[in-house]
Amino acid sequence: MNKNEFILSHSTPIGFLGLGIMGMPLVKRLIEEDYNVIVYNRTNEKALKLKKEYPQIKIAESYQSLAESAEIIFLLLSDNRACRQVLLHYPGNLSDYLKKDQTLVNLSTISPELSMRLDAELTCSYLEAPLVGSKQPAEQGELVLLTAGYKHVFEALEPIWKIWSKKTYYLGDVGTAARFKLVNNLIMSLSLLSLSEGMALAENLNLDMNILLDLFNHSVISSPLVQLKAKTIKNKDFTPNFPLKHAQKDLKYALRMAEHEKLSLPSASIANEIFKKEVSNGSSDDDFSAVSRYYQ
Ligand code: NAP
Repeated sequence: MNKNEFILSHSTPIGFLGLGIMGMPLVKRLIEEDYNVIVYNRTNEKALKLKKEYPQIKIAESYQSLAESAEIIFLLLSDNRACRQVLLHYPGNLSDYLKKDQTLVNLSTISPELSMRLDAELTCSYLEAPLVGSKQPAEQGELVLLTAGYKHVFEALEPIWKIWSKKTYYLGDVGTAARFKLVNNLIMSLSLLSLSEGMALAENLNLDMNILLDLFNHSVISSPLVQLKAKTIKNKDFTPNFPLKHAQKDLKYALRMAEHEKLSLPSASIANEIFKKEVSNGSSDDDFSAVSRYYQ
């Protein structure tokens, strides 16, 4: 196979690197559709736990064995730093073993600059494919996928997109999907912050929070985000779906894009400071709705 051809079948060995909140349900959906899956995770316990549930999967012991066993590798890591560590910086990392006829699909939310650098420097074919939607949509195959890079790879992976998503975009050159994703998350975090502020004021005014939540349902501000997060803020249940630390790094990457465009985004700058404060106050691994603690 070369960069111009790509054929996927159930026997194609598929590597998956990164068994975090989002990686785990995506891998499970592949296994349940009888794909031939090889997993690797920095913390091996998560891979061992998955193998207990699905003995048919293989666990790669190293980046080398992952690269040598898989034709296509999905990568779903935290951030730029993690992707750099796995793909750029260290001898013995994954990129040392990737070959021209392999494909790497990067599902992580990273900056467009890094994604373009990976596309340029990696030997294999590269597809950028950040995810929109959180843990529950991932479990239910209801994500939205933003993809950019080799179109033939995007087309060949259609059966997998169908397992994971309700809507898939192909957006052209690498970097474009990352830009769309970061704009989406910027708006999401600003919306969450406005919800947190309003609810904090209502609480201080001793308003009935059940009535407030009901009002949201009948108001133009109603949205899936408000529906979901008003409850978690009211109940102060910050079990992570989308960790606060990831929301903050997405704000940071969005602000970098704005800076590059010489565009001032004052609300996003303030939001970033508030998210940073709550990350350093110990809410880093909690759901991003824990940013509402700022107002307590
Ligand atoms: P997560 O639960 O924090 O998982 C992160 C994964 O990255 C783990 O497998 C972790 O390994 C691995 N990792 C981190 N640093 C690493 C390093 N230096 N070397 C190797 N592996 C490393 O994150 P997540 O919520 O699944 O999110 C993953 C990505 O998807 C992020 O870019 C996030 O912004 C994006 N995303 C998340 C959501 C969501 O709702 N959660 C939605 C859309 C997009 P260990 O297990 O060893 O820590």
